[in-house]
Amino acid sequence: MAVKNLYTCGPTVYDNAHIGNLRAYIIADVYYRSLIARGEAVKWVMNITDVDDKTIAGALRQSGTAAGIEELRKYTAHFSELFFLDLESIGVKLSDINFILVTDVIPQIQSFIIELIDKGYAYQAADGSTYFSIEKYQQDFGDYGALVGDRFLEGKKLGARVSSDEYSKDELSDFVLWKAHQPTEGNIYWDHPKLGLGRPGWHIECSVINRVAFGETPTDIHTGGVDLIFPHHTNEIAQSQPIYKPFVRQWHHSEHLLVDGRKMSKSIGNVYRLNELKDKGHDPLAYRYLLLTAHYKSTVNFTWEALGGAQAAYDKLAAFIQESEGAGPVDTRYQTEFYNLIADDLNTPRALALVWQLIKDDKLSSAVKKATLLEFDKVLGLGLSDLKPLEIPPEVRALVTTREEARQAQDWAKSDALRDQIRSLGYEVKDTEGGQKVIKA
Ligand code: AMP
Ligand code: ZN
Repeated sequence: MAVKNLYTCGPTVYDNAHIGNLRAYIIADVYYRSLIARGEAVKWVMNITDVDDKTIAGALRQSGTAAGIEELRKYTAHFSELFFLDLESIGVKLSDINFILVTDVIPQIQSFIIELIDKGYAYQAADGSTYFSIEKYQQDFGDYGALVGDRFLEGKKLGARVSSDEYSKDELSDFVLWKAHQPTEGNIYWDHPKLGLGRPGWHIECSVINRVAFGETPTDIHTGGVDLIFPHHTNEIAQSQPIYKPFVRQWHHSEHLLVDGRKMSKSIGNVYRLNELKDKGHDPLAYRYLLLTAHYKSTVNFTWEALGGAQAAYDKLAAFIQESEGAGPVDTRYQTEFYNLIADDLNTPRALALVWQLIKDDKLSSAVKKATLLEFDKVLGLGLSDLKPLEIPPEVRALVTTREEARQAQDWAKSDALRDQIRSLGYEVKDTEGGQKVIKA
C-alpha cells in the first residue's frame, strides 16, 4: 500500500505555544487519525522552526550577545519540550509525528538554494542575502499566488525585495532564502562558499524538509493555519516547483481561534496558554472537545463560558465511559454514519452530535454504546480509552449486590434503605434498564 505523506507546518520555538496555535495541530491530528482509521499508512512530518528572528533574539537575550548555534539550540530545546508536553496533553501522540529541526538540515537547505540559483530562480543581492525571483518564477510557471486567488498578481509590481519573513499581500516582494549574517545576530550563522555567512529565511525550510522527508514525490496533504496561505505556503510552492511539481496535492488550512473577534496572537497580546486553562481547572481535552464542536474551516471565538460548557459536556462523556461496564460489539450503523461524517471534510460538529445521539439511544446497551464511542474516539482523540473505570470500594460493591438481591425479592423498603446507605458513603446508585449503575455522588 502506498504511504500517504502528511506535512504540518510546525511551531516557532521562541515561547510557549498559545491555544490558538494548538488548534492547528489538533485539526491536523484529527485529519491524521481519520486517515489511519480508514486503513491508510501515513508518514506525518512536522518541522520545528528553531532559527528565525525571534529565536535568535531570545538566545541572545538568554546567553549574551556572543551567543552561537549551541546557545540557540539550548534556548529553543526548552520551548520544543514545552510544545511536546502541550501536544501530549491535547491528545496528540508524539510517536505519530516525525519532527525535524531546521538547524538539523542546514546543508540540505544550502544545496536547495544553490539549485535554485543554478536554475535562475534565485540571486544574491548587493546586501549579501539571496532572494527568490518571483518574476522568473512567473515567466516559467505563471501561477505565483494561486493559493490566494487566480488573479493574485494582477496590478502588483514585481521586483521589490523583503528580508523579513512575515509581510502582507500588499508588500509582494522577492523574499529572502539565505539571510546574510548581521553583527546583531551574535555568532549565530552558518557558512557556505557561495552563499556566504548567514542563515535561512523562514519559508525555505518547509520546502527543504518536504524533500528531505518524502523525496521528490508530491506531498499528499500539507496542513497549517489560514494565516500561512500567504506568504508562507505561497512561497513554499514557488521554491519547490522549479525542482519538482506538483509540490503538494492537497492543502488543508484551518481557521483561527479568535478572542473578542480578533485572531489570538502574540503580537496582539490576547493569548492564553494551556497552563492557564489547567490552572483554572480545565482539562486540555475539554479544550480539544470545544474545538471539535466547530468545523475546522470556521473561526472559533474563545470564551471561558464556552470552555466551561465544553468541560461539562466532556465530563459527562467521560463519566458515561467510566460508568459503563464491559464493552460490547461496536454498532455498525453508528460506525458507518460516523465515518461518513468524518469523510465529509471532517464534519466534527455533526460527529459530536452523533456521539450524544448514541449515548441517548435507548435501543442499545451501554456496553455497545461504550464500544462504539471508543471506536469514534480513535478519530476524535479525546482520550476516552485512557479513562480508568470508576474505582468503587468493595464495601459499596457489597451493598450494591445486596440491594440487587432485595430488588429481585421486591423488597423495596430494604432497597431504598440500601440506597441511602450507599449515598452516605459518597456514591449514587441509579436503576437503569441494564441494571444498577453506580456513580460518584
Ligand atoms: P507559528 O508558531 O506562529 O508559526 O504558528 C504555528 C501554527 O499556529 C500555524 O499553523 C499558524 O497558522 C497557527 N496559528 C497561529 N495563530 C492561530 C490562531 N489564533 N488560531 C489558529 N491557529 C493559529
Ligand atoms: Zn511551513
